[in-house]
Amino acid sequence: MAGILLAALAALVEHATYPVPSLPAGMVVPAIHISATVVDAHCDTLMRIVDKNGNPTTDIGSETAHAVDLPKLERGHVDMQFFAAFSSARYHKEQALGRCLALINAFHRTVREYPGRIVTALVPGSLSEAASTGRIAAVLALEGADFLGQEGPELLRQLHDLGVRSVGLTWNDSNALAEGIGRRYADGTPSTPGLTAAGRKIIAAMDDLGMIIDLSHASEVTVDDVLQQSRQPVIVTHTAAYALRQHSRNLSDMQARKIASNDGVICVMFGSAFLSGNVMSATVDTVVDHIDHLVETAGVDHVGIGSDFDGTVTVNGLENSSMMPLLTLALSGRGYSPADIEKIMGGNVVRIIQQVWKAEATGVEPFRIKSPASMGGSLPGPPRLVAEYTGAGRAPGDAPAATRVIVDGLEVPSSYDEQTGRLTAAALDDLTASFHVATFEITRRGGSAGRSTTIFRIP
Ligand SMILES: [Zn+2]
Repeated sequence: MAGILLAALAALVEHATYPVPSLPAGMVVPAIHISATVVDAHCDTLMRIVDKNGNPTTDIGSETAHAVDLPKLERGHVDMQFFAAFSSARYHKEQALGRCLALINAFHRTVREYPGRIVTALVPGSLSEAASTGRIAAVLALEGADFLGQEGPELLRQLHDLGVRSVGLTWNDSNALAEGIGRRYADGTPSTPGLTAAGRKIIAAMDDLGMIIDLSHASEVTVDDVLQQSRQPVIVTHTAAYALRQHSRNLSDMQARKIASNDGVICVMFGSAFLSGNVMSATVDTVVDHIDHLVETAGVDHVGIGSDFDGTVTVNGLENSSMMPLLTLALSGRGYSPADIEKIMGGNVVRIIQQVWKAEATGVEPFRIKSPASMGGSLPGPPRLVAEYTGAGRAPGDAPAATRVIVDGLEVPSSYDEQTGRLTAAALDDLTASFHVATFEITRRGGSAGRSTTIFRIP
């Protein structure tokens, strides 16, 4: 009986329609909000749209119960949204990579299904391209990257191929790369402060590839180590001011000044618990209090926004992306000039993107990948990766001098057939059932090189 009741209740909950918080009826979106480039530097929506096996579940192309979906972003006039692929150091290493790839796969599926509404931002020019066609520019980001501890730079490059352009080395737990704000490893033992040797290698590789370093969740010593080592300005995608709310995730005034002198950007999050001791009464004004304080401390060129939507409970009045115009209105009410509003609402993050990302386009895919049949596709046993080189049989300079196949950061045995242009990897018998990343790479006799990268799944 109880079982039947519970099932009935579950069915009710599943089909209930929730009132979606939205802008007050009749509110006119301020012109400055529409003309400004609005950039939200962090949301956790990807982890809400896959099931525990990594299968994409929710379609964010239509209205959902989540704080971020395409209709809400469109109503909120958000021009660029960072989507974080979160993986915890508490997972086993392979599980963590599999989980991260499942989220990246869900990201690409969304972009593939709505080419007229959303586009992956890969180069600084992506934003103006998206704007001119009325689409949302989506930035793929990592939150926690413990799995980069061993294969490091090779795996990082594969993730860059997949579109990742911003990386936070840790979540709260310390890991193989760096010390997180919790200053303990996932097993509870105290951690060594700052960057590890593996973490330093990743920071150097990120500088070379042109990827943004996200210092949210990093411990104080990790922040200092990165500022000392990296040649690039950094970003803190979701944080707040410690002076106003004594929470370990927030930045002290001293840290805010250091990040400003690195030319970095500090993005204020909307999570009530991080902004106020009285979570029930936190509002849009509380967010602006933190913005005010950071503007005073670090300067108006070094402050942005990173909601943390779908990762935490946000303040009253900023429950989802559609409410974003209310923040612009509140900034305007506090006396910020249109030029300063443009910087805070997104212009400063755009500047970081222009400084850090490489300008060149990704170029033509050198391989037509046959197996898996599509991104995220299954490889039933015995799993074989196969791709066809599209330049085969053309000019002699196009012929391969060398080819490689890389799986999860490690080169695997492979063979190239001159006749068919097929590059085939040896059967991958020891891979676990999970999501994996494969790269087909060519160095041509003419000296140029190219790569095609995809996600596949072992069922
Ligand atoms: Zn976070």
